[in-house]
Amino acid sequence: MMWEPNSTADNMKDCESIKIPNKTLIDGKLVSAADGATFDLEDPSTGDTIGTLPRCGDRDVSLAVESARKTFDSGSWSSLSGFQRGRVLRTYAEIIRDRQRDFALLETLENGKPVVESKWAALAVADVVDFYAGWADKLHGEQIPLKSGAIDILFREPVGVVGCITPWNFPSTQPSFKAIPALAMGNSVVSKPAEQCCATAVLMAELALEAGIPEGAWNVVTGYGHEAGSALVAAPGVDAISFTGSTDTGRKIMTQAAARLLPVSLECGGKCANVIFDDADLEKAVAGAVVGGFYNQGEVCNAGARVLVQQTIYDEFKELYVRAVQKLKVGNPFDPKTTLGSLVSKDQKERVVGFIEAGKSEGLEVAYEGHLGSLDGSFVAPTIFECHDVKSTVFQEEIFGPVVTLMPFTDEEDALMKINCTTYGLATGFWTKDVTRVFRMNRKIESGTVWVNTFGPFDIAAPWTGYKNSGLGTEWGKEMLNFVTRPKNLWINTA
Ligand code: ADP
Repeated sequence: MMWEPNSTADNMKDCESIKIPNKTLIDGKLVSAADGATFDLEDPSTGDTIGTLPRCGDRDVSLAVESARKTFDSGSWSSLSGFQRGRVLRTYAEIIRDRQRDFALLETLENGKPVVESKWAALAVADVVDFYAGWADKLHGEQIPLKSGAIDILFREPVGVVGCITPWNFPSTQPSFKAIPALAMGNSVVSKPAEQCCATAVLMAELALEAGIPEGAWNVVTGYGHEAGSALVAAPGVDAISFTGSTDTGRKIMTQAAARLLPVSLECGGKCANVIFDDADLEKAVAGAVVGGFYNQGEVCNAGARVLVQQTIYDEFKELYVRAVQKLKVGNPFDPKTTLGSLVSKDQKERVVGFIEAGKSEGLEVAYEGHLGSLDGSFVAPTIFECHDVKSTVFQEEIFGPVVTLMPFTDEEDALMKINCTTYGLATGFWTKDVTRVFRMNRKIESGTVWVNTFGPFDIAAPWTGYKNSGLGTEWGKEMLNFVTRPKNLWINTA
């Protein structure tokens, strides 16, 4: 299981060896922005500037898209057999495994998350690559019988150039979820990682070259969303945009993309419920609610930020839960014993603290609020509210921080109302031993993923999708291949 403190992890001193490239990767070369513009990258746990990255604008995005298009049209990647692409990708997966330590340290440095989690992330990226390497030669079309006797074959072709816009919460896995399936199917890619955490993505694309993925097949444009991100959506050479981030930005991208019917896939926000029925294994449910609520500092779209507990066990659960959360260790993210690192930025800290203040001023009970001691980076202590009003701000809005709201419920019907009463519909977990309840609840829960007796496990094979304001389209698993390929129907008259 992820998130166990690991005594063999590197300590603070090791991060001094990390070198931020201060360049981005376009057309197989590490380059600066065409106009020389830069922006600073920060270590959020200290506030120190750790790098100065190219602030890409229209010109850089054009160059990246042209390079991707040229590579796609040349066939140096797109015309390889799926088997050949799969072999190259497997080499890439091994390179990532070999460089796990570098990835982990870089990801923690730019994001602030505990190094034990970043170590897990590097291996997860390698698994994503292996998974899609396996699909590279297995996605085939179909032969369709026609009444005339003509031969009809439905092919699946790569779409061309895929723009991949990603957030800061998982600096290596997020870009991999989009770029790797696209590459596996023969597309070229332009990645636009989040401005707060983008050095990891540059390293990933650089190492892809080492594996044998041709120059120009995977380009990266570092910079801001309203500049590089928006320019990528506008670039005429882009054939599809895969986005993960906030619902507001998702809407903007979809609006912009509508002008030229550009296909978009949007993985947006969430406000997930983790529901504990009174027949659940309480010890496991408590542990699951701790990971669900506080994993990655709660900076996860599928954080179990709303813990709904059946009235009959509410007090007992609350006591056990608070006791378990007290054991979380907030601190230096490079310390292998740390379970909660820094939030990604001062802005994010301010936003989360704003929600904690809103909860208090709305009169919510504070069941627990941790202490930060002398930590003065962008840290926020774990906080647990108790709430009885489904309209409360902290119960409705995505906080993206270590803040969990407990709420009692009476029965299944009450639980369903409380699960479904937000505008989001990403994922829901519930804990029960009653198998009939599993099917009853599953049918009525409005979310793309439902977990039973677990919360937030990850496997790239399991598709990921959002209902309501949580998104549009499906990522991960075989499903993602439908987005990065398009059907073409060939009809051959044999008469
Ligand atoms: P978050 O709240 O997680 O920061 P955002 O939606 O703001 O989420 O950002 C997710 C990604 O979208 C980032 O890479 C960001 O730079 C990018 N982005 C932000 N605004 C735009 C935009 N208008 N067009 C394209 N990309 C954008």
